[in-house]
Amino acid sequence: MAEQFDLIVIGGGSGGVRAARIAAGFGARVCVIEEYRLGGTCVIRGCVPKKLFTYAAGFSGQFELAKSFGWTTQASFDWSVLRSNKDREIARLEGIYASLLSSSGVETRADRAMILSPDSVKLQGSGEVLTAGKILIATGGKPFVPDIPGIEHTITSNEAFDLKTLPKSIMIVGGGYIAVEFASIFNGLGVDVTLAYRGALILRGFDMHLREGLTEEMTHRGIKVCLATQPRAIEKTEKGLCVTCTDDFQHDVDQVMYATGRVPNVQGLGLENIGVKTGIHGEIPVDEHFRTTCPSVFAVGDVNGRAALTPVAIREGHAFARTQFNDDPVTVDLSVVPTAVFSSPEIGTLGLTEAQASEKYREINVYLARFKPMNHSFVDSPTRALFKLITDAATDRVLGVHIMGAGAGEMIQMVGIAVTMGATKADFDATIAVHPVAAEELVTMKEPTYTILEGERV
Ligand code: FAD
Ligand code: NDP
Repeated sequence: MAEQFDLIVIGGGSGGVRAARIAAGFGARVCVIEEYRLGGTCVIRGCVPKKLFTYAAGFSGQFELAKSFGWTTQASFDWSVLRSNKDREIARLEGIYASLLSSSGVETRADRAMILSPDSVKLQGSGEVLTAGKILIATGGKPFVPDIPGIEHTITSNEAFDLKTLPKSIMIVGGGYIAVEFASIFNGLGVDVTLAYRGALILRGFDMHLREGLTEEMTHRGIKVCLATQPRAIEKTEKGLCVTCTDDFQHDVDQVMYATGRVPNVQGLGLENIGVKTGIHGEIPVDEHFRTTCPSVFAVGDVNGRAALTPVAIREGHAFARTQFNDDPVTVDLSVVPTAVFSSPEIGTLGLTEAQASEKYREINVYLARFKPMNHSFVDSPTRALFKLITDAATDRVLGVHIMGAGAGEMIQMVGIAVTMGATKADFDATIAVHPVAAEELVTMKEPTYTILEGERV
């Protein structure tokens, strides 16, 4: 059978769409197969609606602060307005994705794909079989929920965006990105929030000061942070849901949301037909050029398990297309990945945590600043912004930057440029501060708060 396409992309999300457009730009005949909505997780039920909801939630804190600056406000909130405005915006962005693909000459199919062989894919709905020289798997991930009695009564982030009514109370299970972001969103919208996390401290893998700092801030804002516990069983009651936790406490809530991680979308994909085996978390292992163990099949984005972030999926899709269709081999270096958690307050972080740095380097310097943000000047508030720099004492290089406070996501993007370029603490010090902004702290922390020598704080 003659080849219909040079490239078939399975999944029209961040990584797939970028790869398709760039490959088409190099003259490849490309088809994208998407089973749900173009734009993928990020646009339809991830980053974008989440950030819009974060903005909505942020107003309540602002209204409170406004009073101390002399304003009188009378605010009320209408969930249905937020939801329908969000739906309209998402539909608009979905349309932009579709037109970007068609204007790049990429064909699309609205269907579910299954790989039949190293060069063919079957559309499950229409039964059509497409062939191509190369196949790119960009199928992303989906929420993982543990199997406990009553789990069918719960929701995940997928459903949280489209709730018909705003619950009065919610339990959020998990302590990662999605759990803390949604705890902050619902809290900001006036919902009574309980966060149940199985571990000793939320945000495992993040720097200790951020983990402790955010726990304190969430608690100040009225979120009940329950640690070392999680639901054992969930029962439907007349009033809502009754959650029995592993610490034997019972919680009556309107809604339970699971945010217990995501797993790669590989089910029914036909990987067995091409001899590709998945890793322990279901991810598709790839080499530095995103090639799977089947030479004509590649995988980018969440599905390859490298880093589940939109900019990483986009960068990988781009690198794949350049490598395969422009004979210009590029790899994606993930040694410095700036990232933000859109909790309240926000977190921006990059590079090594204190624990990682002290394990890897003989001597590190830690610069730490915590202070009351200026817009809280007139209120008796326990809120503190946090800035932390970690440097290698031997070379003065900045190894990690960790920020908690308003605008932390925007700040970490800019600091990311300097750190990616290999900036030293002396480079930070040589930079003239902007005043009065919180970020000036990054260039004015003169003496280390403490030093860690061979794992010991001195
Ligand atoms: P996806 O965007 O998930 O796209 C995969 C597509 O493949 C989907 O559209 C799916 O329908 C389709 N598909 C799957 N299987 C098949 C099949 N067999 N046939 C046809 N189509 C198929 N990242 C950030 O960087 N910043 C954030 O603020 C952020 N917030 C997030 C908030 C939430 C609630 C969630 C869930 C995620 C968030 N992420 C965020 C992560 C980000 O959304 C993902 O890393 C990113 O979308 C991954 O892109 P991708 O192309 O790998 O997959
Ligand atoms: P995370 O991996 O960030 O967090 C998962 C949480 O669930 C952890 O606290 C984990 O605990 C807990 N957990 C895992 N398994 C179980 C279980 N069986 N029972 C109870 N708890 C469990 O995943 P998320 O779902 O929050 O987000 C998925 C990914 O999407 C993120 O890792 C991130 O890459 C991306 N994302 C990025 C965002 C951003 O950039 N702002 C926002 C949202 C998502 P433990 O730590 O103990 O394992």
